[in-house]
Amino acid sequence: MSWIRVDQVLDTLFPSRCLLCGQSGAGVGIPACAGCMIDLPWLEQQGQCSPALGLFAAVQSALIYEYPVDRLVAAAKFGRQVPVARGLGQLLALRMPALAEPPDAVVPVPLHWRREASRGFNQAEEIARALCAVRRWSLRADLCRRIRPTPEQSGLGAAGRRDNLRGAFALSNARAAGRCRHVLLVDDVLTTGATATAVGEIFQAAGVRQLSLWTVARTP
Ligand SMILES: [Zn+2]
Repeated sequence: MSWIRVDQVLDTLFPSRCLLCGQSGAGVGIPACAGCMIDLPWLEQQGQCSPALGLFAAVQSALIYEYPVDRLVAAAKFGRQVPVARGLGQLLALRMPALAEPPDAVVPVPLHWRREASRGFNQAEEIARALCAVRRWSLRADLCRRIRPTPEQSGLGAAGRRDNLRGAFALSNARAAGRCRHVLLVDDVLTTGATATAVGEIFQAAGVRQLSLWTVARTP
């Protein structure tokens, strides 16, 4: 007979290990242990809406984009770690308020197919997938796509980001998009909001009346 390994027993008792410290003890639907959850740089909830994001009825983020959130986002994005992206989506689901009017469609900000192919997945889509699993909302990654690859936004100012994104997105299913009353866009990090605004504008043009934006983190 073979011995049962202790770590396998632990994985059975505590199926989820903490995303941050690697110890067991993360709960069902909670990606980190209690100690690490408390230490995360949570954002105080505000009805924050900068003028540049006037398109959205609500803009909310769960965390401040600083250590260790920046490491988690990088691991999801560049380390091809789908479970980390899903864990970020669980953090978002835990932090965000209940909505009186749930969205008809949850839309992750799309990556250009070439970047998605090289990265293996779209981290925003995995974040939105975990959010939708918790809230039982409808994930609609099929409604819009990035038709033009855009250089990385980092290093560009607000105006540069807007120019960089002009014509970058298009609806793939205009009829389905137009039937939505409330579309919730989901992304990993909110910086200037130029990307989300570029996506939101095409839904607004399709007749969607209410747009919201939730991101896992926002830059301080
Ligand atoms: Zn931990």
